[in-house]
Amino acid sequence: MIFKTAFHALTTAFKGLSLTVKHLFGARKARQELDITKDNYFDKQDGIATVQYPRVKMPIPEVARYQLEVEIDDCIVCDLCAKACPVDCIAIEAIKSPEAIGKTSDGSVKRLYPAQFDIDMAKCMYCGLCTVVCPTECITMTNQYDRSSTKLTDLIYGFSDMTDDQVAQRKSEWTKFQAEKEAAKSK
Ligand code: SF4
Ligand code: SF4
Repeated sequence: MIFKTAFHALTTAFKGLSLTVKHLFGARKARQELDITKDNYFDKQDGIATVQYPRVKMPIPEVARYQLEVEIDDCIVCDLCAKACPVDCIAIEAIKSPEAIGKTSDGSVKRLYPAQFDIDMAKCMYCGLCTVVCPTECITMTNQYDRSSTKLTDLIYGFSDMTDDQVAQRKSEWTKFQAEKEAAKSK
């Protein structure tokens, strides 16, 4: 009985060690950087199953949805993206202007200032709906996927380019404009 148990222990240890040695030598090769659009992407490969990230990166599909970017100069602050977002991760505060303040690169007239334009990428589910509804196509999904952080607040990206002083000034301009309008009406 004792010989049978010893024999079983030896064969089991041998099998385990063979597997370890096989993987040890296999690790000399690494997965190739394959394009997911190619037919051989799911073919079995020799060696370790992952690439040596971040030194090596797998090519990503052209239509991949990753980090959002906003070209704020082209934003008309219409809030459509925020309304379309299913998880409410876009926070926009607009300040009205008494007159047109410029044009976007596609010729749309800008009448609102972006006092706040924050996107919380920790909540974003990368559905892309915000990019679909944007009338000026200024909110886009980029190919940036490696902005991980251990601090959740690092994932809130602010795109407004206004300072606190500018926000205060634009708000007071609008308040003054409204007051003057009301005063003119009551005359
Ligand atoms: S991609 Fe989807 S979840 Fe993310 S901000 Fe846009 S609408 Fe919201
Ligand atoms: S939908 Fe486009 S233009 Fe409108 S607020 Fe969002 S990013 Fe700006």
